[in-house]
Amino acid sequence: MGIVSAPLTTQEVKDIIPAGPKGPTTMPIVIAVPKELAPGEQRVATVPEVVKKLTKSGHEVRIEHNAGTGAYYPDDLFTAAGAKIASSRADLLNGARIVLRVQPPTIAEIDQLAEGTIVIGFMNATHNLDAVARMRDRKVTAFALDLVPRITRAQSMDALSSQATAGGYMAAILGAGNCPKFLPMLTTAAGTIRPATVLILGAGVAGLMAIATAKRLGAVVEAYDVRRAAGEQVRSLGARFLELEINAEGQGGYARELTSEEKEKEQQMVSAAVARADIVITTANIPGRKAPLLITRETVATMRPGAVIIDLAAESGGNCELTRPGKTVREHGVTIMGPQNLPACVPFHASQMYAKNLQSFLALLVDKDGVLVREFTDEILTASLLVHAGEVLHKPTRDLLSGEKP
Ligand code: NAD
Repeated sequence: MGIVSAPLTTQEVKDIIPAGPKGPTTMPIVIAVPKELAPGEQRVATVPEVVKKLTKSGHEVRIEHNAGTGAYYPDDLFTAAGAKIASSRADLLNGARIVLRVQPPTIAEIDQLAEGTIVIGFMNATHNLDAVARMRDRKVTAFALDLVPRITRAQSMDALSSQATAGGYMAAILGAGNCPKFLPMLTTAAGTIRPATVLILGAGVAGLMAIATAKRLGAVVEAYDVRRAAGEQVRSLGARFLELEINAEGQGGYARELTSEEKEKEQQMVSAAVARADIVITTANIPGRKAPLLITRETVATMRPGAVIIDLAAESGGNCELTRPGKTVREHGVTIMGPQNLPACVPFHASQMYAKNLQSFLALLVDKDGVLVREFTDEILTASLLVHAGEVLHKPTRDLLSGEKP
């Protein structure tokens, strides 16, 4: 998750960036969708349903050969929706004005882009400084979907939320698949089975989806979050909310870091809940910081044999002390999994949601006549504009690039 910063004002953006792309033009905008090359990435940035709408609006959509195969959108479905299939990356990008991606482009991919190309996707900018610098130097324009502000108007383009929904769902499925118990209560001729207990730590977007999924599978579900507002949402899903006398709601609806006294109280309560759980799904994150440590090595030792921890915060440092990103660890009879890209495990629907997010984002960038807007002054565009015309516009990233602390 990228660092959240106060977006620049419209005037600040106008001062930094020269006028946007010159228009109007009668030429259709060429929108290119490359095949994602990151290991394990199965998603694709657009789907046939969205292509149909884009081509109907007069744009030319090009899909790199087999770009959708991993998400079960074969080339022929894209062709039927009006896209052209490009057999090589060079053919794909030749004349392309906009490139839609899931993962940030690599240096090699940036080097294939012509000056002025607009790239839209997750950028993970503060952890991807070399690529940001290259986009700046090559005068590529980059919009980071992970910097789209979480305001009501931007909900339809909130790719962090859509992909966290996919991740939360998969976390519950992964937990169930690795748990040696049934999740629901069963009354059978062979006896009665008690339901499994699932504990969710962090009830943001991913956590709430994990709760809903575990409930549907029949488990008894408990959840905890430092934001008291999460309690109502947890209870509305039929789960029990673990209360602590802490309300750590920080800026923009995100959590703030706890004081050391609060951390101690939290550890005690969380440890007791972890010890009685069969599956623990952790999603606790604080934007721009290392994930809070919620499950110590000692707590793991108190868990039931066969218990499973799915640590969705693995990439930002992990909520469990024993988590290893991308790995499965077994300690004290407990399985600890640190999956790194769970949305890619449900690529069909994750791509569909992501493609819709991009479609909504494009509607800000291209006017109703199919012409690129001349200035990126909409507050959503301003906040998510990472690089433009040789400048890095996201301050925390710019500070890191210039060696300053953001
Ligand atoms: P996130 O991924 O940053 O964090 C996940 C959860 O971890 C959060 O709920 C956070 O409170 C919790 N957490 C942090 N420290 C914790 C700790 N020590 N112990 C337990 N839990 C801890 O969050 P997110 O899922 O991206 O969502 C964050 C907030 O943004 C939520 O309030 C969500 O409702 C809100 N949101 C708003 C919109 C919108 O209005 N458009 C869209 C998406 C999310």
